[in-house]
Amino acid sequence: MSDPATLSIAARLATVRAQLAEAARHAGHSANAVTLVAVSKTQPVSAIEAALAAGQRDFGENRVQEAQSKFSGLKARYPDLRLHLIGPLQTNKARDAVRLFDVIHTLDRPRLAEALARAMEQEGRRPALLVEVNIGDEPQKAGIAPADADGFIADCRARWRLAITGLMCIPPADADPTPHFTALAALARRNGLAELSMGMSADFPLAVAHGATLVRVGTAIFGPRPRA
Ligand SMILES: *Cc1c(COP(=O)(O)O)cnc(C)c1O
Repeated sequence: MSDPATLSIAARLATVRAQLAEAARHAGHSANAVTLVAVSKTQPVSAIEAALAAGQRDFGENRVQEAQSKFSGLKARYPDLRLHLIGPLQTNKARDAVRLFDVIHTLDRPRLAEALARAMEQEGRRPALLVEVNIGDEPQKAGIAPADADGFIADCRARWRLAITGLMCIPPADADPTPHFTALAALARRNGLAELSMGMSADFPLAVAHGATLVRVGTAIFGPRPRA
């Protein structure tokens, strides 16, 4: 029997999937062209299990240790589960991150590129890597500055032999994200990058309209986050 919390996660997930399929159709893509990453940070394992039961397989977490404690067992039970790191990564956690995550969205500085290259060598495992761009050039935010992005991507490829698959951004809060989505898409295009990780609960249909291939949705699936 399912409890009410489980039912509401399944219902919200169905709504988000329908909105995503509609946005993809409008943008001229097939419904499965955009990956829905369910952001489960601070949510209990019971909530993640409810989403798994409803067929969700891509999950996003923003802290390595929290992800390890919540997902180690689940990854063994669901071999097709894909775990995405969407929060800042410290260089001393690079090896743990490489071992656990399938996609790392937050590569944003040379020292981290170097640490990830070494960790991948040591672990013999290569998660997909996206470069995070501080698209609004906000002083308090993580991400490579837009002006430095082309050079950093080139260095990742040439100096550290990293196969970058795409770009990620978190646009400034309380502003129209459209120009930022457009700018990230242009940056990806001129660097030959196929993946765009952009769009959260409030704006994922708009992000898809501007080319998002990965959307990171938490609250709209799981409801309000418990305090971390
Ligand atoms: C928390 C978080 C999200 C999800 O935010 P919601 O508004 O709950 O959908 C997406 N991306 C990143 C990087 C986050 O930290």
